[in-house]
Amino acid sequence: MSIRINMMAVSVLALLGAGCATQSGTPALQSPAPVSKAQSATALPTICNQTVLACLTGEYSLIIGPSGQVETYAGLIEEAEKRYAKTFKAPRTKSVLFLSSTVSQDDRQILKDSGYEVLLPWVSGIARQAMARDAIRVQIKSRNSDANDAEIETMTEAMLQRAGLGLGVNAERGAIAHEFAHMWFIKNNWPQSEDESEDEDQDARQYGSAGPDWLDEMAAVLSENDFLTAQRREATKEIVDKGNLEAFWPLETYFTMEHPIFKQALAMLKARGDLKDGMNVVMLTADEARGLDPEGGRKSPHFYAQSRAFADFMIETSKTPFVFDRIAHALGTGMTMEAWLSENGQEYGLKTNVPDLQKQWELWLVKG
Ligand SMILES: [Zn+2]
Repeated sequence: MSIRINMMAVSVLALLGAGCATQSGTPALQSPAPVSKAQSATALPTICNQTVLACLTGEYSLIIGPSGQVETYAGLIEEAEKRYAKTFKAPRTKSVLFLSSTVSQDDRQILKDSGYEVLLPWVSGIARQAMARDAIRVQIKSRNSDANDAEIETMTEAMLQRAGLGLGVNAERGAIAHEFAHMWFIKNNWPQSEDESEDEDQDARQYGSAGPDWLDEMAAVLSENDFLTAQRREATKEIVDKGNLEAFWPLETYFTMEHPIFKQALAMLKARGDLKDGMNVVMLTADEARGLDPEGGRKSPHFYAQSRAFADFMIETSKTPFVFDRIAHALGTGMTMEAWLSENGQEYGLKTNVPDLQKQWELWLVKG
């Protein structure tokens, strides 16, 4: 049994909930993935034989979902992979985006047997809106037994708006790329993390992988699209402009900490009875996301902003786009970040211990 919590949903909605994002527009459709069902039917998993599902394939990608929805995501996995490969070893891992909140054990096995090693179940924007609308309508009906259908609909729409569930198309594309990058990162660097979760003890569960959470999160943030990247950088600019550097975790903590909202998200899922075997796609209202802020006064979106800013700092200072790939390899052998810096810092133009790196990083932040 393995448990994975799709935390990006949490972070994106938290970001939206904080009121720092607006988005609109139509899907930025890339040139569609080239292969149709007929073209490579033999190579496709048998799931694609079902008439209710459409499959869209690329060399390393497969998108499964209701027809009319899969097309919206064409080219997305390839885009994400291209960005990921700018800073980490190219994954070249056959990856599936499955537009559904759950994927049965049988279907997972079929996909695995067909060579698809990475699977992301995902509730599409269209489906999420529909699910939310249904849930809200039931709630409103129960509270307003006198209201007629038209009144119920008006109230439902108004509440849907307020709930802040409108994850826009660009944010959604960035979020999907983010999630794939987590899985590629784990597969390439901590493959043992994927199958070991036989553990029934909920407290023993960890976020993502056996690797450090900051690095795992950074690999994901580095693979986000321009839309999310701009938001991360904007959040950092705001923090620096206000001289509020304590909003970021000190590097000494950052290098060893658990993901700041992992425990809260796990507890909330347990309370909602939503924690499932396999992958958990978490969808939260803006209010729920706000309630997940970590202890100690820092805000969860700032962890993501810090990931982006720290990556920019390290890549720029070291003049080495693959600096984190090298760090990941070293930490994979059990090395600490402190030891890595002491051994390699100088070569990369970085300070050779954490307290000095902290000063170098803050100076870089303030200089903009
Ligand atoms: Zn993440």
